Amino acid sequence: MHILIIEDEAELARHISRALVRSGHETTIRHDGNEGLSAALSLLPDLIVLDLGLPGLDGYTLLSELRRQGHETRVIILTARGEVEQRVKGLKAGADDYLPKPFSLDELVARIEAMGRRGATAEPGDILKIADLVMDVPHRRVSRNGKAIALSPREFEVLQVFMQEPGRIFSRTELCERVWQREHTYDTRTVEIFITRLRKKIDHARTTPLIHTMRGVGYSIRDSHPESGPSPKASAQS
Ligand code: CA
Repeated sequence: MHILIIEDEAELARHISRALVRSGHETTIRHDGNEGLSAALSLLPDLIVLDLGLPGLDGYTLLSELRRQGHETRVIILTARGEVEQRVKGLKAGADDYLPKPFSLDELVARIEAMGRRGATAEPGDILKIADLVMDVPHRRVSRNGKAIALSPREFEVLQVFMQEPGRIFSRTELCERVWQREHTYDTRTVEIFITRLRKKIDHARTTPLIHTMRGVGYSIRDSHPESGPSPKASAQS
């Protein structure tokens, strides 16, 4: 993969780059937010490692601008440890994952490679459909009622988990495991933010919402017209 590293601490950027190159990736480093944004727009990297506190243009603004221009490049943000607000703000701006500083380079590489692999797992010929929502897995395209919907790779993966098993209720923990592949640090807030992002893109201003919340249990995707699909197998018993 070609990975763009936007980090103003020169030494840290170099360490990250070296670790990624050792694992067979190609890297580009930028130390400033404005230069980072123009590199992201012109070099079209496969993935971006983005620090949030940057000179010139901060990471949140850079990310929002990238998304506003329709670029769905995978982005992993580097946050200060314990700064929940930073992470929430970064995920809302369109990040796919985050890593709190200080982190081990091994963990960063593992996280990046997991993200890369997820993008390449499509089975050719897979078209998933629920009501008027259509997911073309090999081409990574989604449309509703014939209108294309732009999703970030992570949003696509969350939606794909739902669409592979319509009606099934997924707990936040299970979604975390399936999409973020974290076994120990379940971060349910991240899942909530992604559900909100998906709802905005898929269900906003529609008469029949497809993403459903079972309070205290989890989420599912289903066609709410009773004649056109099985009802959820699991049920909220609390
Ligand atoms: Ca910084």
